[in-house]
Order: sequence, then structure tokens, then C-alpha cells
Amino acid sequence: CGIVGYIGDKQAQEILMDGLSKLEYRGYDSAGIATLENGKILVKKKKGRLQNLSDCLELTPLNGKIGIGHTRWATHGIPSNVNSHPHCSLNNQIAVVHNGIIENYMDLKEELLALGHLFASDTDTEVIAHLLCELYNGDMVETLQTAMKKMKGSYALGILCSDEPEKIVVVRKDSPLIVGLGSGENFIASDIPAILKYTREVYLLDNGEIAILTKDTIVVLDANGEPVDKAVFHVDWDP
Ligand code: GLU
Repeated sequence: CGIVGYIGDKQAQEILMDGLSKLEYRGYDSAGIATLENGKILVKKKKGRLQNLSDCLELTPLNGKIGIGHTRWATHGIPSNVNSHPHCSLNNQIAVVHNGIIENYMDLKEELLALGHLFASDTDTEVIAHLLCELYNGDMVETLQTAMKKMKGSYALGILCSDEPEKIVVVRKDSPLIVGLGSGENFIASDIPAILKYTREVYLLDNGEIAILTKDTIVVLDANGEPVDKAVFHVDWDP
């Protein structure tokens, strides 16, 4: 039920875990993070309290200066380690965190199964990872735009792709998502408190908008794929 993401020069894990802790108030039954390092996506996810994930990361930390994190409120598939996010395509090429519901996930899953995709979980979200993998043409933004035409329902998504290791691609449709502007680093989150420790300058994404984050740049595209000149929203309150 919450999303965070980081791209910059610091280790992502600590920032992701801190952000997720600020989203605990939204309620959740499991949590996970993915980082990208040396062209490889690494994932750790656990059912239950954030502390379970934290304990696990303490034993074997995930390195990487790019990452996405998630707290889950299960809608499709019971709370379990396997059903926790992030969800990945084959060989962890693509990792996805998702808030919302993909209403036509069963139809999409059948199509993808017929094409030979193997599923690990019972979630609607895993379908997104496989769909992106199936459609992938070397450009995650174009691929996402194509996928959006096929997905029905609500989604805030954070996406990592090992073929494009310098970026995080996000989109929101009927689920909240904001982008935080840093210097030499950028953030995503479901809600402002998750990143307030790091920045007070944010973009409030509108419905259908895609944002592409690198550590130094943020490009926002509207629902028609046109670049948008977003106004910076300054947060002048404290949680
Ligand atoms: N529908 C997804 C799931 O059940 C996402 C739930 C959420 O928003 O946390 O895994």
C-alpha cells in the first residue's frame, strides 16, 4: 500500500527502509525492496512487519544506489513472501512495485502463460512485470506506454530494468504517487512524509503521467506522451 524509490549516489537500502517506515500508517501485510547494481536487480521481500525485512537485510544487505520499495496491502493473493513486491520478470530483468489493482490481470495472465511466461505468485502485479518483459523493445518508457493500453484498473508503479540501469520509470493512474527533487539524487513516494527528510521540493503527478528519473534529471510525460513542464510544489509543513 506504499511505494518509495531512490536514485542517487547513496546506498538506496537505508533510504528505502526509512521511507517505508514513514508509510506504515497506511497499513500493510508485507514489504520488500529491489536495488540495481552492476546491471543486476537484487530483491528481498518478506511477509509481516517491516522489522522482518529489516532483520533479513541486516544479515545480507542489498547494495546499489538505485532502488524501489513497497509495503503491500494484499488484494490478489494471500500475504506471503512470494506474493510480496517487488515482482520480477524472468532473470530479474524487470522489477515492479505496484499499488492498486489490475482488473483484467486474469486475461493478461492467460495470454502471457500461453506465450510461455512462468509465474511465481498469485498477484495481479506479477502480470505487469511479465507484460513489460513481453513487450520490451529496449525503451522502458515506450514499453510502459504500450502496456498501459492493455492494463485496466488502478496503478502507481515503480519500475527498474537491468537494461536501463541509470533510471527509474514510474506512472500513476488512480493511485497516488509523487516525485521528490534532490540535488544529484531523486525520489519517488506514495506520500510526502516518506521523503520529507530528504527533500521539500516535489512534483505531484497527475493521473496518467509517467516520470523518468535519473540521478540528475526528471522528465514528466502526460497521458498523451507529451513532455510536461511540472510546477515544483514546496512542502512547508512538518509531519
Ligand atoms: N494488488 C496488488 C497486490 O495484491 C497491490 C496491493 C497494494 O496496493 O499494496 O499485491
